[in-house]
Amino acid sequence: MQGDISHLTGILRPSPEVAAKLRHSANYGAAESVAPGIRRILAGNAKDYTGPGTNTYVVGEDRVFIIDPGPACDAHIAAVMRAVDGRPVDGILVTHTHADHSPAAGALRMLTGARTYGFGALSADILALTDEDVDADFVPDVKLAHGHSVGTGAWRIDAVHTPGHFPNHLCYLLPHTGVLFSGDHVMGWSTTVVVPPLGDLADYLRSLSLLEGLGAGLMLPSHGPEVADPVGRIRTVREHRLMRHAQVADCLRRGLRRPSDIVAVIYDGLTPRLITAAEGCVRAHIELIDRQTEGEAATAKAATLATCHAGT
Ligand SMILES: [Zn+2]
Repeated sequence: MQGDISHLTGILRPSPEVAAKLRHSANYGAAESVAPGIRRILAGNAKDYTGPGTNTYVVGEDRVFIIDPGPACDAHIAAVMRAVDGRPVDGILVTHTHADHSPAAGALRMLTGARTYGFGALSADILALTDEDVDADFVPDVKLAHGHSVGTGAWRIDAVHTPGHFPNHLCYLLPHTGVLFSGDHVMGWSTTVVVPPLGDLADYLRSLSLLEGLGAGLMLPSHGPEVADPVGRIRTVREHRLMRHAQVADCLRRGLRRPSDIVAVIYDGLTPRLITAAEGCVRAHIELIDRQTEGEAATAKAATLATCHAGT
């Protein structure tokens, strides 16, 4: 079996044990300074896939933005308001509408009078395709597309559309300081789950390259600690994904097709309650391999036809 991952230190599979360890050392309710003018407030919604919980960021000096409101939990909303500390809030920015990111936007909007920003809600048709925990109620006051900016000067924030984990996922970049808010696309504590139909592996890899090209100097994810070497981390995440891709392709070549069979082969010692997510990730790889195979077949057919025509 190809794909030894022992050298990929620092990449962790979402794990209840790791999440519990992070939860134990977490500083819930406090506003921690993570960079000049940027404070992080950790929500108490630790779960298997959120690690210690959701990070909400308060960004700015005299005036501030809030990035990723988090869950609609009273204690968390009160902690965010303490970090705002009476300063005017110019906007509430949402990375995406998974239920651990956007639900507090409504309460914070009422408390601060700020407008909400995000890529936009998913259509009912798309929502009907998934049983993921999605905040279907969040509709931003202002829709952001890739390349849109909010704020000015040192506190200008650029929106970077990064589908792959979730279709309406935005990362946010402070171009003047090279700080990247990476949402769930690249996390600080584990790899990210990419599960079809809302998750798409080809999009995920494309978005990784987009983030790599930003050359950020500090990455602040929505789960887990800050990342001092964003480019290194992005490359490691990509290497891990491609390693899994090779493992799944190898299984398909050997005649395995059912995600549960493939998970049993390529995931060593997987915690039983993470099996469903692992199967989802395997489906993302199979989907991409099928598309690649169809693409190769179409290219080969076109080349054959071209040869035939050239010969006539
Ligand atoms: Zn998410």
